[in-house]
Amino acid sequence: MTALPPPTGLLAELTHRCPQRCVYCSNPVELVRKSSELDTAEWQRVFRQAARLGVIHVHLSGGEPAVRDDLEDLVAGAEEAGLYTNLITSGVLLDECRVQNLADAGLAHIQLSVQDSDAALADHIGGHRGAHLKKMAAAGWIRAADLPLTLNAVVHRQNLAHLPDIIDLAVATGAERLEVAHAQYQGWALKNRDALLPTRRQLDEATKLVEARREELRGVLTIDYVVPDYHAIRPKACMGGWGRQFLVVAPNGDVLPCHAAASIPELKFDNIRDRKLSQIWQSSSAFEKYRGTDWMSEPCQSCPKREQDWGGCRCQAFALTGDAGSTDPVCALSPDHHLVGEKLHEAYEESDPKWHYRGYSDTDPVSAILKK
Ligand code: SF4
Ligand code: SF4
Repeated sequence: MTALPPPTGLLAELTHRCPQRCVYCSNPVELVRKSSELDTAEWQRVFRQAARLGVIHVHLSGGEPAVRDDLEDLVAGAEEAGLYTNLITSGVLLDECRVQNLADAGLAHIQLSVQDSDAALADHIGGHRGAHLKKMAAAGWIRAADLPLTLNAVVHRQNLAHLPDIIDLAVATGAERLEVAHAQYQGWALKNRDALLPTRRQLDEATKLVEARREELRGVLTIDYVVPDYHAIRPKACMGGWGRQFLVVAPNGDVLPCHAAASIPELKFDNIRDRKLSQIWQSSSAFEKYRGTDWMSEPCQSCPKREQDWGGCRCQAFALTGDAGSTDPVCALSPDHHLVGEKLHEAYEESDPKWHYRGYSDTDPVSAILKK
């Protein structure tokens, strides 16, 4: 048996609390409460264990990590453990002093999310009035603190028309990198799928635009582009393969192979309060379940691509078929591939789909929200 290589990346979901309520949020529909969150010392222990295990990068995420008063201590703890620290933030809780304190604590990089180039639409998508302006201020403080900045823009049917302006916005903020990521249909995005799925035409135009602007902005802005699964014919190697490169620690200390893995009801997760990270990485039943290729059925089991895409996304397979062990239906070779076309059809049929804000049970038609 070959030794299991160590993970390279840790996604530390410090909290599920967030002042925004994005309709595409990939957090689970059942959010972890503050009372269950790991405390400062527990997170710092996670970082030390992660570094010993071989992790190189830690992504401090949420929810909104800046909700935590101890964020500076957590950054310092990760840095002292020898990890490269990246903060993924909405920016709405940052101020100039806090950004400088985070830089002084050893933060290496910030990814700042934007919902749109238009302030009103951005605030509607994020469900937080005034958020866009705060983000623009945060971008200035981040650059002033000399921290490398990536802008994260999740795109979907409601904002793709503004992609040219989103790219201009990234240049204007002084970001070095823009990540244009089509929404992944997990968590709240899955609930809002009918409102968010882009049309084929939108996707093709966006892809052409990104290719052209990449050339034009060479040396100024790097544009990363994550295409949407539902329009593909082959799946992505989700998380680089289940339990192969990444681990996720949820706010309550549960350790997951992927941030959406809690959507698969049959999985049982070990908790960092009970076991060491190295033990969990090596032998947790949730990691073992879909690691490698032994679990695969046909057509994956005999497919030459099985060690490239690792059968696609387990959470997507579960969301679409109810069986997390099936071939990701995005793959054209899957017997369930027709389900993807059906979901696209349903989304376009729905002229005024409901819009569920994260964290709340209220629903409104998209058209009503966009008019507010
Ligand atoms: S996607 Fe939006 S709601 Fe979800 S954690 Fe990020 S900022 Fe908060
Ligand atoms: S059959 Fe399985 S391994 Fe082959 S391309 Fe499709 S998802 Fe990947």
